[in-house]
Amino acid sequence: MKFNFLHFKKKNLLKDKIYDFIIIGSGPSAITLYKKLLSKKKNSKILVIERGNFEKKLFKKVKSKHLKIKLKSRVFTVGGTSSLWSNISSYFEEFEMQPRWTKKKSNLWPMRYESLIREYGKLNNEYEFFFNMLRKKKINIPFELRPFIATTKPINFKRFINKNEIDLIYNCKINSINESSKTSIAYTSNNDAKFVAKKIIICCGGIESINLIQNSVSKGKLKNIKNKTIIGKYFMDHPKFNLGYLKYPKVHIINKLELTQKNNKIFYHGVSLPKDIQRKKKLLNSYVRFEKTNNRIFRFLEKFNIPLMKKIMIRNNTYRVRLFCEMIPNVKNSIISKKNNTYVKLKLSKIDIDTIRELSTRIKNFFSLKPKLELNFNINNIQKKIECASHHMGGLRFDNKNKLSFVDKNLKIRGLKNTYVCGSAVFPSSGSVNPTMTICALSSRLGEHLTKN
Ligand SMILES: Cc1cc2nc3c(=O)[nH]c(=O)nc-3n(C[C@H](O)[C@H](O)[C@H](O)COP(=O)(O)OP(=O)(O)OC[C@H]3O[C@@H](n4cnc5c(N)ncnc54)[C@H](O)[C@@H]3O)c2cc1C
Repeated sequence: MKFNFLHFKKKNLLKDKIYDFIIIGSGPSAITLYKKLLSKKKNSKILVIERGNFEKKLFKKVKSKHLKIKLKSRVFTVGGTSSLWSNISSYFEEFEMQPRWTKKKSNLWPMRYESLIREYGKLNNEYEFFFNMLRKKKINIPFELRPFIATTKPINFKRFINKNEIDLIYNCKINSINESSKTSIAYTSNNDAKFVAKKIIICCGGIESINLIQNSVSKGKLKNIKNKTIIGKYFMDHPKFNLGYLKYPKVHIINKLELTQKNNKIFYHGVSLPKDIQRKKKLLNSYVRFEKTNNRIFRFLEKFNIPLMKKIMIRNNTYRVRLFCEMIPNVKNSIISKKNNTYVKLKLSKIDIDTIRELSTRIKNFFSLKPKLELNFNINNIQKKIECASHHMGGLRFDNKNKLSFVDKNLKIRGLKNTYVCGSAVFPSSGSVNPTMTICALSSRLGEHLTKN
């Protein structure tokens, strides 16, 4: 069934019903989770609660210090941010789960890499991630390669919702949650309605999931939460910007990496520093993408990367080089919610910037025939060049170390019994890859866990 909360607010029809699962949010993480729960336990009673509706896309500004948060990076609508995304996917590398910036080689993620890969494999084509088609080309160059795939018609996850399978209540913003011994309860603002389930899973997207927890705690709810002090901390993003244009590119190498289209799919490779250099110099896996400026796919992608550097001469053989950053988890980067407003502190660290310098120097020296003449390729004024960030990660992390872990390895909030978080807020490291396939892999894994127990 589908309910518009604005119509049934006063009656609060669902107040006496106890669901097996309530999922807050209706973006890719929520949809993948509800589908997995039903595939494992057919008769599960599931309620999905969504702040937005079917017609409009609503946005809300986030105040940020240093790096800007893009206004259109959080969309309140059924289907979540998949109503806007570009549908580009790849997988986390195993070394991106490890801190290359510390002396000790360890794993930040409290799960085995093989289990993440297994989950990617299970998602495969159902949600058009096409994991099995992602293959690294064998090209002998002194860089690490990363394969990407995208579809020319990005998929809106709204299309997977079947109102006969679940209850969906829309136009309904959850303001806080709390737990009793056997249930978890979601409240709208002023407690004017409440919804009860055996388990609640928060899938509100990177920033809003943190907001919801912070609001609940500030209202004196969720008293048993452990590690309250790390809520909102270690926030990360994938800032991106145009590194510049290569006027004298080594076309015979770059054309093996650049964007190509086959039917409705686009393929390309990203190029980052070799793994051993990342470890040795304590740097990250930020990568660049080469885009031929006169090609059709470039123009397609340009739709999503709005600001154009039109002033720059666009010639046949010129390549635009775009850089996509990994950020280290930094305790100083954080989110705070106060009186319905969200404040973000997000700044590149020295390691983030050193990586950009090292990578761009190597790219220019290796991929240009005349590096010294590449005047439109430099890293001056990085902070000014950076386009705002729109992959929000961290803040409610899971980690191998308990004291740094807000949720446990099964995504349950530590100290609570029935409340879980799923989405990029739990990522303990950001990697540099677009996050949604990994988010959905975690949802699918959580769905299996919840139905086993
Ligand atoms: C312009 C753009 C392009 C992108 N391109 C890519 C890409 O190519 N590849 C990729 O992997 N990723 C991309 N992303 C990121 C991708 O969109 C997100 O990773 C993905 O949508 C996250 O899914 P989610 O379900 O966790 O959160 P969302 O999709 O953000 O969904 C969260 C949902 O929760 C709802 N909600 C929030 N708070 C509440 C509340 N309090 N009560 C009730 N409901 C609530 C929201 O309305 C929303 O519907 C892009 C993002 C943007 C902005």
